[in-house]
Amino acid sequence: MSNKTFDFEADTGRILDIVINSLYSQKEIFLRELISNASDAINKRKFAVLSAGDAAEMIDGEVTISSDKKARSLTISDNGIGLSAEEMKDTLGTIASSGTKAFVESAKGGKDGENGGALTDQLIGQFGVGFYSAFMVAESIDVVSRPHGASGASRWHSDGTSGFSIDSAERKTVGTDITLKLRKEAKEYIERERIEFLVKKYSDHIAQPIMWLDAKADPERLNSAVALWTRAAKDISEEEYQSFYASVAAAYDAPFATLHNRTEGAVEFTNLVFIPSMAPFDLFDPERRARLQLYVNRVFITDNCEGLVPKWLRFLRGVIDTPDVDLNVSREMLQQNPVVTKINKAVVKRVLGEFGKALEKRREEYENLWTALGRVIKEGLYEDDANRARILDISLFRSTASDDGMVTLKEYVEGFAAGQETIYYLSAENAELAMTSPHLESFRAKGIGVLVLTDPIDDFWLANTPEFDGKSFQSITRGEVDISNVGEASEEDDNTEAVLSDSFMAKMKHVLDGDVADVRSSANLETSLARLVADQSGMDPQMERMMRMHNPDFNGGPKILEVNAKHPLVKALNTRMETGEFDGSDSFARLLYDSAIVAEGETIGDPREFTNRIAEVMERALANSKE
Ligand code: ADP
Repeated sequence: MSNKTFDFEADTGRILDIVINSLYSQKEIFLRELISNASDAINKRKFAVLSAGDAAEMIDGEVTISSDKKARSLTISDNGIGLSAEEMKDTLGTIASSGTKAFVESAKGGKDGENGGALTDQLIGQFGVGFYSAFMVAESIDVVSRPHGASGASRWHSDGTSGFSIDSAERKTVGTDITLKLRKEAKEYIERERIEFLVKKYSDHIAQPIMWLDAKADPERLNSAVALWTRAAKDISEEEYQSFYASVAAAYDAPFATLHNRTEGAVEFTNLVFIPSMAPFDLFDPERRARLQLYVNRVFITDNCEGLVPKWLRFLRGVIDTPDVDLNVSREMLQQNPVVTKINKAVVKRVLGEFGKALEKRREEYENLWTALGRVIKEGLYEDDANRARILDISLFRSTASDDGMVTLKEYVEGFAAGQETIYYLSAENAELAMTSPHLESFRAKGIGVLVLTDPIDDFWLANTPEFDGKSFQSITRGEVDISNVGEASEEDDNTEAVLSDSFMAKMKHVLDGDVADVRSSANLETSLARLVADQSGMDPQMERMMRMHNPDFNGGPKILEVNAKHPLVKALNTRMETGEFDGSDSFARLLYDSAIVAEGETIGDPREFTNRIAEVMERALANSKE
């Protein structure tokens, strides 16, 4: 290939700017990123050799580091899979990895850029920017690489600002050299001591030897290169686990829990699995990819093994190593592999066990964890029949009965009001709207707790989950929920049931014909005028809202308008109707309906008519008050 120059993709240029100009305090992490890329490349080459079935071609992977004091340069080399010129153009000239993409999104401050690109160290740290982080210490970078299975090599060169060039080059063997021409202020990285210190700090567990090469001395090994998970848990320090987590998860939080076990028996495997304490950046990717790494006898197979853990545990990070999977099995076939299925079961059991323990012993931390990950765990309630019951046990919910904390279903049931037999819930768009909702009025007045569910997934799993511990779930916005014999008698209850006249009902039904399926008097309102509920067989209003997000034309099931017969306005209106219709009664009927729509957090179909109606009623009120 003759020399070609390219511009960076728009986003890449931008991220380089950010990286280079940020006052990132931990520039040293560039070394960890480059070593980790080198190690990945070696794993990929080993896998390629294995899949091709040429065992004789198998390599001993090795990462070497050397420096040139005069040239002020540092070179990291590996005998991994290598990069073709085309791959250099694609992967080093664009923001290829999803992590980096997510980083750019946040750097822009989300889609509309309200952050204006303000970046914190933490943000950079949280995502890691892989290869590009090298520009924090380098004024230019050369990548010389010869890919596995090819004879030619290429050189990629860039100063990180004006794009990059690709040229043909020489390299005797397969692999990659990354040479950093260090910035003046980063010249410390030509020193062996500094590099050794950093390798021990960040990359000690890397499975391949990392060697320091010095023309005047024998090669020297910098890391211990023992896969951390193969060591006995009792010999591993917290720091070692933490640093392994940081590198395997590219995350900087302290893990919520570390599960390191060896299992023997029908299936043999080791798991070193971390439960993060913060939501990983890709948690809500539509792909819902799990990222646990699968190794077979310390040979990396894949970090995308469908079936290794269920999707609702996709936040788990770490390693599973088993001798019981055939190395030559294709990655596509792994999903159906019985060994993988058994490992999946065991890991789920361990993680749920850990959640159960945390619920008892570390309640506050567990509530924070639930805030970060609960939404995803609850996907299991919807789609994992085998584990549903156990997930229900460790799920937390907001309840109107407890002010700030969250409750388990068991705790909610233990706090049942007198006569209560079902689990009441209100599904709403957000907690604030829910807490002031008219639907809760009578439950509040009678001291009955209601679960407030605000995650989109809630309506879905509820549809699949008939009961907990023999108690059924009951939406308080659907059907006629009779709480007359539940809880304390409400203070406002004067026990004389207010009854609405036939003429009032007839008027309401006539005016709202086509908008609601029925109008009835409500037993569950205290201070609001009216509310809208769904048919018992209908769809919850919240579910309808979600359906409409996907399809704006979605028409939900029929709604029923419940009117508060105890309300003074309704009482007065009722009396007037009984004595005959009065001028403007249509507007009153409509406004009752409108008020229920607004209380639901919905928008009124025709705002113009609505304002006209209000004006009309206000005018009349003024005219009357003059008299
Ligand atoms: P990530 O590693 O998160 O994908 P990077 O920016 O670190 O992102 O690397 C981009 C890509 O460049 C890698 O995914 C890999 O395909 C390629 N790459 C980087 N370093 C090497 C290397 N030493 N050998 C082979 N390929 C590499």
